[in-house]
Amino acid sequence: MTGKVFLVGAGPGDPGLITVRGAELLSHADVVFYDGLVNPLLLSLSTGRCERTARTRSGNQTIFPQDEINRQLISEARAGHCVVRLKGGDPYVFGRGSEEARALLDADVPFEIVPGITAATAAGVYAGFSYTHRDHSSAVAFVTGTETTASGSSRVDYDALSHFPGTLVFYMGLARVQSICDRLIDSGMAPDTPSAVVSHASLPDQRVVTAELSQLADTVKQKSMRAPSLIVVGECVNQRNTTSWFEALPLFGLRIGITRAEHQSDDVVHTVVRAGGQPVLLPMIDILPPDQQQQHNLETTIDDLQSYDWLIFTSANAVREFMKQLWERGQDARKLHQLKIAVMGASTAAELERWCLHADIVPEQSGSESLAQVLKPIVSGKRCLWPAADRARNTLAELLTSAGAAIRKVVCYRHVNVSESDELRQRFSEARVDWIGISSPVIACQVAGLFPQLTEKNCSTKIVSISQLTTDAARDAGLTVHAQAAKASWTDMLRAIAVTTDHSMMDNS
Ligand code: SAH
Repeated sequence: MTGKVFLVGAGPGDPGLITVRGAELLSHADVVFYDGLVNPLLLSLSTGRCERTARTRSGNQTIFPQDEINRQLISEARAGHCVVRLKGGDPYVFGRGSEEARALLDADVPFEIVPGITAATAAGVYAGFSYTHRDHSSAVAFVTGTETTASGSSRVDYDALSHFPGTLVFYMGLARVQSICDRLIDSGMAPDTPSAVVSHASLPDQRVVTAELSQLADTVKQKSMRAPSLIVVGECVNQRNTTSWFEALPLFGLRIGITRAEHQSDDVVHTVVRAGGQPVLLPMIDILPPDQQQQHNLETTIDDLQSYDWLIFTSANAVREFMKQLWERGQDARKLHQLKIAVMGASTAAELERWCLHADIVPEQSGSESLAQVLKPIVSGKRCLWPAADRARNTLAELLTSAGAAIRKVVCYRHVNVSESDELRQRFSEARVDWIGISSPVIACQVAGLFPQLTEKNCSTKIVSISQLTTDAARDAGLTVHAQAAKASWTDMLRAIAVTTDHSMMDNS
């Protein structure tokens, strides 16, 4: 029983730049081995086991020699697994992908290769220069910068490069930028040739410096540019002022702390990334399955659904967890055929639609009081089932009971506050978060307790709040609120950040 290995290009950094084929394979993989250049946000596409295989040390990560990586790919495939080997950029552009493919071939392990957008392509587009603009350049060369040494023992032909009729892009050259520029000039290239270094291309911390070739190394040093970086040499660099779009995105460069439960963060993460920001997951809430007793109650209720008239959902989580349970009990939506369904608001209705169900009642204003207002005249004498979080407020049940309904709350998930977590504390301080979003009074208190540095006067992290209620609670907890959403949603919190940071309004999807 042999599995298969897929060598997949992850793209240059922006998680949106993986291919459709790459994303599809990630979602099927049993095991993913990813290298140090891969954006970890891509791993959320996979439900398989993910292991980092960097060949250089970062933090306390292990160093993986290439032979060891090859061995692991082969042994996982031989165990029958679908293995994705995810590599930054394109696997065959300075990526040692061909060496891995060779090792698989020798071991008789089947494989496929999926190309990726290489760093150079992304750097040109995201920094705003076209390498082959027809007025300036009719060719582009991708060159390794690591072979270049001061003593000149290099396979790279600098005489040829200095007369190359187009743009040069050097990979892996940051540490040797001085010697690369010197050798080009010594071989006859004009010292005032436009040149640039692009670091972290396509990522929120993308930085670009430009200089004449003779000044580039000094500029790079002054500006403390960091790897991974590319060196670009050619006339195209001068176009940058007119065509750079990425750095103009509304949240460009901002690291934004997202306090939602992790599995509910996808939409916000997506919006932040598409607006040029860096999401930092700081979940203050965890969603857990019901405990044993609650699970038992839920199951017996599901077996007895025919005795209810109304099904009421007050959160999208409740819809999802309830429908999952129904499915796991061997049932499906047909079991709900005689029930009327009421939901709290638009996002709960949207989750219901994902299960191909229409809500009979969606109040215009979201909230227990509004929902009760609509339901009161029609539920008298009816039996209502309310699957909800363990700590859902009881207001709805009280209001409907007083209107003569028989309402039964059944717990279908638990909401747990994260109040102690060394991992989150460490993530928060390492990520140098620019803004943190707080979406309820409870979260305001948790944030103040977990990250006490936020209550200090000179703290550089700013706070955006979802509503006046939350702003007041945050102030009571000793926090300074720098912006407040116009409407109570995460999108509006992000918009408030963009406005406060003086970027244009967000209009990208
Ligand atoms: N296979 C990769 C390249 C791997 S070699 C690709 O196709 O992009 C590693 C080098 O790639 C780095 O030293 C740097 O020069 C370049 N690189 C990778 N990602 C980059 C990024 N986001 N921005 C700038 N350079 C990058």
